[in-house]
Amino acid sequence: MPTIYWGVFMNIQENVALGPLTTLQVGGPARYFVEATTVDEVRESVEYACSHNLPLFVMGGGSNLVVSDKGWPGMVLKVGISGINHYHGNPVVFEVGAGEDWDQFVAMTVAHHCSGLECLSGIPGSVGGTPVQNVGAYGQEVSETIQSVEALDLKDGEVRELFREDCGFSYRASIFNTSERGRYVILRVDYGLKHGGEPRIAYADLKKYFAGWTTAPTLAETREAVRQIRASKAMLITAGDEDSRSAGSFFKNPVLTPAQHEALQKRASQRNLQIPSYPALDSQRKVPAAWLVENSGFSRGYTRGHVGISRKHALAIVNHGGATAAEVVDLKNEIQARVEEVWAVRLEMEPVLVGFGPSGD
Ligand SMILES: Cc1cc2nc3c(=O)[nH]c(=O)nc-3n(C[C@H](O)[C@H](O)[C@H](O)COP(=O)(O)OP(=O)(O)OC[C@H]3O[C@@H](n4cnc5c(N)ncnc54)[C@H](O)[C@@H]3O)c2cc1C
Repeated sequence: MPTIYWGVFMNIQENVALGPLTTLQVGGPARYFVEATTVDEVRESVEYACSHNLPLFVMGGGSNLVVSDKGWPGMVLKVGISGINHYHGNPVVFEVGAGEDWDQFVAMTVAHHCSGLECLSGIPGSVGGTPVQNVGAYGQEVSETIQSVEALDLKDGEVRELFREDCGFSYRASIFNTSERGRYVILRVDYGLKHGGEPRIAYADLKKYFAGWTTAPTLAETREAVRQIRASKAMLITAGDEDSRSAGSFFKNPVLTPAQHEALQKRASQRNLQIPSYPALDSQRKVPAAWLVENSGFSRGYTRGHVGISRKHALAIVNHGGATAAEVVDLKNEIQARVEEVWAVRLEMEPVLVGFGPSGD
């Protein structure tokens, strides 16, 4: 693979296949690709992209991406900054390089008897990816423990510290994937955790797992439970489990206004169905996207060419081997259209499309 040397710090590779760098494993090459392991390397990569008029895409662990078959025409910058410092206090603060592996970091916090991230065990990807969609699972979200995010502002080249309240966190959203999408390269994330804190056993699956236990579960036992539950749904990347070759949940759970929720309930009762829902902010209701998919004529294991719906989770689109990005997007479109036809609700995609046109083609 040809390599360009730029400045003193880094080398830029050409025509690097992106599929293998993602968990879904589809998509074409990056015209230019660089992995930056220091802040200086990040800066220099950005300068290279700007001075050569290359569109820039920043990636972490590639676990929330669908890369188009054409690939990315400009530069892909993978943030590989490592390093973890932690400071004792109340809370215990962990300053973590954006390129650190998320699950290894969670394991470390549990080993240090710090609570706050244990329910987020087993999620793939990098630390720098977690603020972007306010990663959440099993009753926890990173927005509860993120104290600040250090990021390079591409508007003016300054490194800024964004505090939690600056990040605009909500369900699967932050400024990084909404109002300020593409503006920041996340370099470091600081989390504040509670030493000696209890694990959070709030989510139904976890309560069920620990039902009948006579002793309170520890953080380590909670982490193990989460990983086991995830594995049973192929939401833990496991060698040999084809159903885990995915980008995780493909659709967000719709959050509906009371009027929209009532309309949906009416449609459900016309079909003699009862739709599950949970309270969300501002009297809204969150409806499980998986329920909508499974009640729109799709079942787990539904297959279309080289792609399909996971046999273990109705929300995951999986690559059965040799799939193209076009096949993934066609299945996504089919699911969205059918759910909208049956339920009048448009499912919003969770993973990020890379290198597609504005209409997703
Ligand atoms: C099997 C499986 C299970 C999953 N389970 C969950 C789950 O339970 N909950 C959940 O919330 N998510 C889940 N995900 C989705 C995914 O793992 C998370 O969103 C993860 O945090 C993405 O991190 P990443 O480093 O892989 O980001 P990438 O996929 O590389 O990128 C995702 C987005 O973040 C941006 N980004 C990444 N790093 C940076 C950076 N340093 N600076 C600026 N922008 C950046 C990218 O530009 C892109 O927009 C799952 C995925 C899989 C495959």
